[in-house]
Amino acid sequence: MSKLFCARCGRALHKDSLLPGFLCPTCYAELKLPSPSLPRLEVTLCPKCLSYLHGKHWVKSGCEDPIEAASKAILQAAQRSAKPLLKGVIAELKVDEEGLQNLYTSNRTQTNVIIIIRPPEANVSKTLEQQVVVRFQLCPQCSRARAGGFEAVVQVRADGRFLKDADFQLINRALSKLAAKYQVSERGTYLVEVKEVHGGVDVKFSSSKIARRFAEELRSLGGAVVKYSYKMKGIDSRGKTTYTTAISVRLPKFSIGDIVRFKGEFAIVESFDRDRFIATLLRSRKKISIPHSSVWKGNEVMVGFSPRTMSVASIHGNSATLVDLASGESYEVPAHILPPWVKAGDKIRVLESDGRFLVVG
Ligand SMILES: [Zn+2]
Ligand SMILES: [Zn+2]
Repeated sequence: MSKLFCARCGRALHKDSLLPGFLCPTCYAELKLPSPSLPRLEVTLCPKCLSYLHGKHWVKSGCEDPIEAASKAILQAAQRSAKPLLKGVIAELKVDEEGLQNLYTSNRTQTNVIIIIRPPEANVSKTLEQQVVVRFQLCPQCSRARAGGFEAVVQVRADGRFLKDADFQLINRALSKLAAKYQVSERGTYLVEVKEVHGGVDVKFSSSKIARRFAEELRSLGGAVVKYSYKMKGIDSRGKTTYTTAISVRLPKFSIGDIVRFKGEFAIVESFDRDRFIATLLRSRKKISIPHSSVWKGNEVMVGFSPRTMSVASIHGNSATLVDLASGESYEVPAHILPPWVKAGDKIRVLESDGRFLVVG
């Protein structure tokens, strides 16, 4: 009797466990099932009436149990986001039970969706995990029902630019940190609205104390500048003028992950810690810190750099000619700025600022 072996790993196989392509079940699952990188999901739930945000609309969960409502909202969102990535496989989705319980019993604000996929033709499977951030926020109906409406608005903007993904992640981190400071029963009852507006995001709270805490989180996590002001809201039933707190949070002109130029050197910004930004110099890979004050002062930190694709037209002795493939402009540069592996005809990624060039790839 002839023996069977997996074509990939060479393991001996019983003929019943051999799968198409002469593969063992492990190799089959690895090769034939996708390993998509699933985007981090966000689910917003109203802690009062248990509705959840579906796209732009709030829908009733129809559940009386908060855990059931959260589970329903999470699964629906996960199904929607994973669908295009899981074509051609059978997928089973479930929410991590322990993580789900923890949303209500501890200060955790995220859980996982577990996705088990298998191909229709074989009995092998693969398990994927997707992170879900759960945000508790009053739905418009419940927040209207709260007497007096909102009391404080935090206006998050960035210095001279629109907000980017990295900034939205920062806002979510700040909201999660804030949620962790409150008792689970109170969580989210203070958040009235998170609204994208031209140039930024307005976050409305039912308490100005909590709005301040949120603004402080953005200061300590993202190096934002915070300014407080009061706006007149109206006149209450006793004829007294009422005020709304308006807090302006200005994020720096760069976000985490951006390339900046500081003291003539290109650097990638990695984080903010206490009163300085931590960055890595692109040329030497050395870590540097950029003081918060330098960021807001004049032009000590320059922004707006992204690598351009250039082709190396020629290298002659001490100089080389680079041609920007997008604009067609050509530059004479000293040959020593090119890494040793670069030859004429190569395409390279280059940062350029005021006649200084740095090859980054
Ligand atoms: Zn194998
Ligand atoms: Zn509600």
